[in-house]
Amino acid sequence: MQKQRIGFIGLGIMGQPMCLNLLKAGFPLTVYNRTAERMKSIVDAGARGLGSPGQVAAQSDVIITMVTDSPDVVQVVTGENGILSGLQPGTVVIDMSTISPTVTQQLSEHIEAQGCEMLDAPVSGGDTGARAGALAIMVGGKAEVYERCLPVFQAMGKSITHVGGHGMGQTVKLCNQILVSVTNLAVCEAIQFASRSGVDPEVMIKATQGGAAGSWQLTNLGPRMVARDFAPGFMIDLQQKDLKLALEAARQIKLPLPALALVHQLFAGCQANDEGREGTQALIKSLMRLAGDSAVR
Ligand code: NAP
Repeated sequence: MQKQRIGFIGLGIMGQPMCLNLLKAGFPLTVYNRTAERMKSIVDAGARGLGSPGQVAAQSDVIITMVTDSPDVVQVVTGENGILSGLQPGTVVIDMSTISPTVTQQLSEHIEAQGCEMLDAPVSGGDTGARAGALAIMVGGKAEVYERCLPVFQAMGKSITHVGGHGMGQTVKLCNQILVSVTNLAVCEAIQFASRSGVDPEVMIKATQGGAAGSWQLTNLGPRMVARDFAPGFMIDLQQKDLKLALEAARQIKLPLPALALVHQLFAGCQANDEGREGTQALIKSLMRLAGDSAVR
């Protein structure tokens, strides 16, 4: 069977390696990026670069967007020379950015009104997962459209789950961010408690990570907190965008998320101290300031 022609919009930290994996899997690929120079490495690898999302849409069976936030996806889809301006009937638009579930539902209505389909398919796994083709992908939309696009997802991810209708992929991604963030706070508190009690925090991590308290955050972020390595894997500024989306979605359904709101405020403290571009493990600096720990810097 002939491979679907893919159009990809948004060649950032995540988009670039995802494109390389689509090319590696043999998909014909057309790309657009707002900052044109960023298309070069993907074009050199075999993709065709075009001048607008609309032009990409006109040449594609499946169009993937991987841009920053809700207004950016709205602009790329509905703006001047946007995807809607070039969309051919029967095309599937897959948004893999992390954005608002409500905005996703609204976009799906616009896209379906043109005789096309939409899936929301946000990801987890960061740039390392994107490079390895090992992303976790959470997909919302119609089951039969999901089945049709499965080979495209398999080129970029390992754990691929259809979770429900339009917007529900985004809802599950926000659940992912709740789990990640609240666990991050627990890791910070355990490290501080160990240190001030005279236990080597590295030993504490070693002793606990194999038991019921084990987590990705403890194993991966804990040692970086202890080593004062705040280089970004996932940046605080981007995490704050996601926490804001989760808190806003929770407000709409009248659901208190007290622990998440606290982490959001502690990260705000990091941002106020010019740490927004550091990795999310720098959350511990906010707690160190609260605890009067002079080692914070
Ligand atoms: P990034 O490196 O900042 O790239 C963002 C991309 O979106 C760039 O190509 C940018 O174009 C484009 N863009 C932004 N606003 C646009 C607009 N209004 N019109 C056209 N293009 C626009 O971000 P990223 O890390 O790849 O993240 C992309 C998405 O994946 C985000 O929703 C993020 O939350 C999610 N995500 C990221 C990670 C991660 O670890 N980085 C993990 C999971 C999920 P320019 O090049 O012109 O700026």
